[in-house]
Amino acid sequence: MKIICIGRNYADHAKELKNEVPTEPVFFLKPDTSLLPKRNPFFIPEFSNDVHHELELVVRINKLGKNIEERFAHRYYNEITVGLDFTARDLQAECKAKGLPWEKAKAFDGSAPLGAFIKLKKDDDIQAMDIELLKNGETVQKGSTSDMIFSVDSLVSYVSKFVTLKIGDLLFTGTPAGVGRVVINDRLEAKLQGETLLKLNVK
Ligand code: MG
Repeated sequence: MKIICIGRNYADHAKELKNEVPTEPVFFLKPDTSLLPKRNPFFIPEFSNDVHHELELVVRINKLGKNIEERFAHRYYNEITVGLDFTARDLQAECKAKGLPWEKAKAFDGSAPLGAFIKLKKDDDIQAMDIELLKNGETVQKGSTSDMIFSVDSLVSYVSKFVTLKIGDLLFTGTPAGVGRVVINDRLEAKLQGETLLKLNVK
């Protein structure tokens, strides 16, 4: 399986990192080794002094698809959760300055912790979901998927033009504003629609 991550999908986050608001989706990949086994702590890697949390809605692909039309995209997923796109912001800044790929800042081991998946119900609106991240009990990120620049269905369609989507692939759909550094002993808690789906200790 692969993990496809969307960058800059909320205007308020693009602005906080002084990036332009994109006119088409930005995506990059993480390998399966970025997943963090359940209940494991996240260890800050020694190569970074500025690892940031990025809270994101995550969609699990449940059907093989290529060149998916946006109007059919909802048939390609039926489970969602919240996840963290951990980012070594210091390495990413270096990569961006040099015009190099971001992978070492984004794709490192354990950089994609996931919450428990929940099944989408018939009347759920994936573009009206509240996501929230608490750090040490205080809300640091809070967003609604209604503020996405590109909808989940448009992302599934767009990505599938370039990359075949397979069962089990994960789509991280971008982060709202409020990204910030994590340090040793931080406790993170991620919620979807008010329900805690992920708890994580930073070591
Ligand atoms: Mg992200």
